[in-house]
Amino acid sequence: MRRTPMTCRETVRRMMDYVEGVMPRDDVNRLEHHMQKCPRCVEFLQAYRRTPEILRRSADVRIPRAAARRLWRTVRACQQQQATNRRWTPLKPDRRK
Ligand SMILES: [Zn+2]
Repeated sequence: MRRTPMTCRETVRRMMDYVEGVMPRDDVNRLEHHMQKCPRCVEFLQAYRRTPEILRRSADVRIPRAAARRLWRTVRACQQQQATNRRWTPLKPDRRK
């Protein structure tokens, strides 16, 4: 197991593992140790943590009803097309699970 201090580059590269809690304990220690001395990486972590929130907010935008209806029609037409094109694998979404 590596015991070398974590570099900025490694900290940034592995930030996702850290935030999602899938980083091995040993590496978490190294990363946190690095961040105690590196305000730049702390800043990066804060920006990184804000990202999902920003994405969630942008996903709140509703699309107009007419556009939604058009979209559904397209999806359904697509499914029908697929069902006729590939008779050997009919689309049965309910029974696939
Ligand atoms: Zn750093």
